Amino acid sequence: MVRPLIAGNWKMNGLSGDSDTISQIARGLEGLDNVADCLICPPATLISKAADTASGTRLTVGAQDCHANVSGAHTGDVSAEMIADIGASHVIVGHSERRADHGESNEVIAAKAEAAFRAGLVPIICIGETLDEREAGQTIEVVSSQLAGSIPAGAFGKAFVVAYEPVWAIGTGKVASVDQVEEVHDKIREILGERFPGQADETPILYGGSMKPGNAAELLAASNVDGGLIGGASLKADDFLAIYGAC
Ligand code: 13P
Repeated sequence: MVRPLIAGNWKMNGLSGDSDTISQIARGLEGLDNVADCLICPPATLISKAADTASGTRLTVGAQDCHANVSGAHTGDVSAEMIADIGASHVIVGHSERRADHGESNEVIAAKAEAAFRAGLVPIICIGETLDEREAGQTIEVVSSQLAGSIPAGAFGKAFVVAYEPVWAIGTGKVASVDQVEEVHDKIREILGERFPGQADETPILYGGSMKPGNAAELLAASNVDGGLIGGASLKADDFLAIYGAC
């Protein structure tokens, strides 16, 4: 069985003073059974400090995005190599907020995931349907095509993570039911099995969308759910640790 991963996505939240939360999480993990990997993805401005704080603990640190190129004339962007250089181990690619706010296509996301491999980072590839798509009965179709298009051609034999985040459940308090989660996660595992024979069970599939201490145990116990990608509840050490403890 794949080792679970509990990952926090701080999104565009956190100033230098909030690094205390990173040390609280790192310290809190010491008191919990070592049942899962644990990752926090703060904004780019805090990665270096967070990585220093987490060094030597069970907490690892990741980024929320990267550019596909190594370096060059891309004002405001950060490469996977730069992220790796300051101590990150993972990078989220294709979050629905980047797909929506920055028009990122599956092709762009696949290139970013490939860049993560190149830099020695583990990409967390996000997919998920909108409410309109779900109501139109297109969930499986949308998620399948995002998955096929966002995993890069060179992924065979490489470590990566898939995160299923229904857009309608992100930051809304509306959590997907266990049946809804299992339907999609089972399908993701099936698709991974077809594309990566013999390796599909090695890929953690995370659920994300309004995961909280109160619903985490039920979601994390669902079939083919190997952890969570947590937004709002990762900003408070107690809540995030309670979710970890629900593994
Ligand atoms: P919330 O947990 O705030 O719904 O966010 C989920 C998410 O988008 C994590 O990437």
